[in-house]
Amino acid sequence: MPFGEIKEVIYPTLICDENFVILVDCGFMGSLPLLEKALSKHGLTLLDLTGLVLTHHDHDHMGTAAEIKRVNQRVKIYASKEETPYISASTKPLRLQQAEDFQKTLPLEKQAFGKAFCEMLKRVEPVEVDEFLYDGQYLDWYGGCKVIATPGHTPGHISLLVENEAIIITGDAFVLDNGVPVIANPQFTLDIEKATKSMCKLLSMNVKTYYCYHGGIYLRSHDFNAID
Ligand SMILES: [Zn+2]
Repeated sequence: MPFGEIKEVIYPTLICDENFVILVDCGFMGSLPLLEKALSKHGLTLLDLTGLVLTHHDHDHMGTAAEIKRVNQRVKIYASKEETPYISASTKPLRLQQAEDFQKTLPLEKQAFGKAFCEMLKRVEPVEVDEFLYDGQYLDWYGGCKVIATPGHTPGHISLLVENEAIIITGDAFVLDNGVPVIANPQFTLDIEKATKSMCKLLSMNVKTYYCYHGGIYLRSHDFNAID
């Protein structure tokens, strides 16, 4: 349950091999039971996780991270250096700052909703990042994964290329809207120009399959020309 009564399907991704069980993004606050249920379908529990990659600091991506770490302290938490201050809340999360600024502009009838949203963001539990990931970094997971910097949605947003399968785990670098790749919530994108470049970068790579956190699997059937 993301916020209020709206239900939203999200797609955290699991990268598994004989040595690693890596979760990429972990869901909204309070969604740990759903995550456990999804893991159990693969014969796994939270205790089997070896790593958690946070593509960025938004609450729907890191909402259960601190809880996961409490259950399994062996889980190594990975994020980019740029996102880390917001994930650990050593600096006020940009998304919270944005929501508070936005709140001031809301008409009276939307004030209560805006306030509740800010309060929800304040309840996101920070977590320490164990290891920074950087653009182009090679990770020895599932035969090789590569970190791709995809700034824009947030400054330190990252995506992951799973080389063996030629799959990109996009995070919120782009999302699917009725099956079509689009910028995630353009009105709340922190740098729309960078976000557009990041989306084009991913879609111009020699990959046919994209796992989108919002929208699920996107199979590219033709060359994408986002500039048109
Ligand atoms: Zn998201």
